Amino acid sequence: MKNIGIIIETDIRESDAEELDKSEVKAICFGMITLARQKNCELFAFVFNAEIKDLKSELESFGITNLVNVVLAPEHQNNPAVRAKAMVNAVKDFNIHAVLGLSTPMGKDLLPRAAAQLDAPLVMDCIHVDLENFLAKTSHYSGKAIATIKTAGETLIFGIRPNAVEPVMAQASARILKFDGTDLVATKLKVIKTGKNDKSANINLAEADIIIAGGRGMQNSENFNLISKCAERLNAALGASRVAVDEGWVPYSMQVGQTGEKVSPKVYIACGISGSIQHFAGMKTSRMIIAINRDENAAIMSNCDYYAKSDVLKIIPRLTELLKNG
Ligand SMILES: Cc1cc2nc3c(=O)[nH]c(=O)nc-3n(C[C@H](O)[C@H](O)[C@H](O)COP(=O)(O)OP(=O)(O)OC[C@H]3O[C@@H](n4cnc5c(N)ncnc54)[C@H](O)[C@@H]3O)c2cc1C
Repeated sequence: MKNIGIIIETDIRESDAEELDKSEVKAICFGMITLARQKNCELFAFVFNAEIKDLKSELESFGITNLVNVVLAPEHQNNPAVRAKAMVNAVKDFNIHAVLGLSTPMGKDLLPRAAAQLDAPLVMDCIHVDLENFLAKTSHYSGKAIATIKTAGETLIFGIRPNAVEPVMAQASARILKFDGTDLVATKLKVIKTGKNDKSANINLAEADIIIAGGRGMQNSENFNLISKCAERLNAALGASRVAVDEGWVPYSMQVGQTGEKVSPKVYIACGISGSIQHFAGMKTSRMIIAINRDENAAIMSNCDYYAKSDVLKIIPRLTELLKNG
């Protein structure tokens, strides 16, 4: 039996005045847990400084059998160097063979640090992992090539692309364990302040079910307000092509593509985006792609599920209006 460690990301769900705020598992973790449920694997979910009782039943319903509460000193709980030290020690304490985390900002900060300390092989942005043979699959050249990477070592670390695996429930019962990391400190890295830096960060691109993204066809930063209003109605995250970012219309955190965020939402709506190979590299795995473009010959039009040959500056306000009216 192999022990598989899974790094769980959590959020705080704000409750009304009567109740206390609650911790909840981010929905993007459930696909990763589903992937980890393989033959001869015992699953250990690692949760950093969260209310375990709020998370237990959700994690059990996806097959977690060991729930490890990693407790850090409050002043260090957001410090990735301290989290990495805790992870390294916990991996040893619980005899973990492989660690699965997400290729999210948190995972990108944590997993390489832990891999360096453990001298462990690390594969990020995996779309599949075979835990029997320790093979990882990653997607390249806009999904045209899939690499299968063989890993070897005492401990192996994999960063899983969010939404790459469809979550499937499987009821289990979990025992609660604790890892006490309250004495861990980091000497070279200090977190001064944390917070969200812009409005578009309200819904994380990597976690969104729906993304509405704008490109050169949006023409300026003001016009991005049009898709922002539509995104609010759709409860969607905002994305952009590199042109829109390079023009300074929107921040880099919104860029989707080869050199931006890799996303796999249920629906991706591309507004005034031509569909370059570099843009496709970041959103090709979306389950449904809808393009709005006035050029029927744009590459995206032949690589999407639905398209509207139309002026995006006219169609988006119309769509927002329709959504407003239910
Ligand atoms: C190494 C490298 C890395 C890169 N990484 C990325 C990356 O991560 N992400 C990325 O996006 N790009 C990336 N690029 C850039 C990429 O090659 C393209 O230049 C870019 O994706 C094009 O952006 P776009 O589709 O917004 O613009 P364009 O290609 O100029 O397309 C604009 C589209 O908008 C349509 N349009 C114009 N006006 C309207 C209107 N009113 N209504 C409807 N449609 C309209 C046009 O018909 C056109 O199809 C990278 C390039 C390189 C070389």
